[in-house]
Amino acid sequence: MTGPGAQTVLVLGGGPAGLSAAYALVQRGLRVTLLDRAASLGGGFGDERQPPPTLLGCHHATWRLLTALEFPPRSPEFQQTGLEFRLPDERIVRYPHSRFPTPLHSLFTIGRFAGLSWSARWRLLSWLEELWEGSSELGTDLEYRTAQEWLTSLGHDVSLQQAIWNPLAQWLTGNGLRMLSADALAGALAPVFLRRSSDSRIMIPLRSPNVFFVEPILDRLRRSGADVRPETQAMQLLYRQEHVTGVRLRDGTVLEADWYVSAVSYRHLTALLPERWLTRFAYFQQISELTPVPRGVVRLVARQVTQAPRLMLLREGPFQRVQVHPKEDGQNLFTLITTDGQRRQADMGEQATQLLQATGLIRPSTEVSLIGNDEDADSVLSLAPGTKVRRPIQTSPIANLLVAGSWTDTGWPANLESAIVSGERCASIISGTPLTAY
Ligand SMILES: Cc1cc2nc3c(=O)[nH]c(=O)nc-3n(C[C@H](O)[C@H](O)[C@H](O)COP(=O)(O)OP(=O)(O)OC[C@H]3O[C@@H](n4cnc5c(N)ncnc54)[C@H](O)[C@@H]3O)c2cc1C
Repeated sequence: MTGPGAQTVLVLGGGPAGLSAAYALVQRGLRVTLLDRAASLGGGFGDERQPPPTLLGCHHATWRLLTALEFPPRSPEFQQTGLEFRLPDERIVRYPHSRFPTPLHSLFTIGRFAGLSWSARWRLLSWLEELWEGSSELGTDLEYRTAQEWLTSLGHDVSLQQAIWNPLAQWLTGNGLRMLSADALAGALAPVFLRRSSDSRIMIPLRSPNVFFVEPILDRLRRSGADVRPETQAMQLLYRQEHVTGVRLRDGTVLEADWYVSAVSYRHLTALLPERWLTRFAYFQQISELTPVPRGVVRLVARQVTQAPRLMLLREGPFQRVQVHPKEDGQNLFTLITTDGQRRQADMGEQATQLLQATGLIRPSTEVSLIGNDEDADSVLSLAPGTKVRRPIQTSPIANLLVAGSWTDTGWPANLESAIVSGERCASIISGTPLTAY
């Protein structure tokens, strides 16, 4: 519980970034008000139309938070799965699993990965070894080159890029190789595959993020005396000189606090800012230059064909990956993500069904029902060359305004880990105490 003299913080936006900021703040004794314009909190992460998230072993901030919420990686809530690739000859190959520590793990897994030719495996392992020994560097100009150019310069031919690297890039960053900066690709691959300490375990939650993330945080916030307000939209930041003095809500009321944490998307943040700050500060101007990559999500259900979740990365085509998820009602949920630039078409359900049959995920006789064909123009941040400098750090030029969100500069693609890291950083800055444990 917080004391009466504690500093007050107003957190705008109750997605993963806002929730983790609010949780870390109440843990440190601050008085928090958390508001979200939606009726239920969780943002993109709590949205049932989105695919079940894939959590990676290297997402340390996520696991530290989930463990504090009593959902550690080994809890029955999560099931480990492997990565599968569909090759140009239609074969499905699995990225091998090993229990060895790295670098032995990489030698074992890459050495046995049938998705690469023997010579490609050998070249990749030699390059990784040089990288670990420090005799090879990733390069200083990677942020200004596309991932496609970079991989070509490393000798990875087009078919390898299409079969392996592009699906990996799409899965880890939401961006295809042609438009993605080489730096963003290397940054996304490093904690999963490229470092000595990489952790490529993939965990799929068996139930909705509301069960293991959103509700447990809300429960702890309420028990700590935080004021949680759904259906409360912030409309405008009020200011005096370079200081936020309050937030005007849709109903006209004004909320005031000592500190303000913006945990809304970049598009929503720029709409809240005074015009004067947008023209005066490069920090805010650069935020207004961030752009999204549209993507679509097609969802189908069928009676259960597997009890284990599966994650299959696809080469070029209308879909970049398919996830299979066992549901509590005895059905399987199939979620297919469209590649960037693919527009939603009326026959996406039919194309998805054909793909599920062609990959052997369902039999031709299996009856499937289309339950969703949604396009989300804002869901993924474009990580094109030159984007890195536009992603803001948490401290803004306004002393009592901090900025959180998966899209901020955390060193991660705009994913759940990035959202949580950004929220926790805001809490550390406000409280003046680094987060080591909850
Ligand atoms: C299709 C899809 C698949 C994904 N898959 C994965 C995955 O497999 N693994 C992974 O790690 N990540 C994944 N992500 C990413 C992850 O879910 C998002 O990055 C995460 O939700 C971002 O969190 P956030 O808190 O920054 O923003 P958001 O979740 O967008 O939350 C922002 C919140 O702010 C609220 N808001 C906006 N404007 C206002 C306002 N004016 N006043 C009050 N409230 C406001 C919104 O209602 C929202 O709740 C996926 C995302 C999508 C869209």
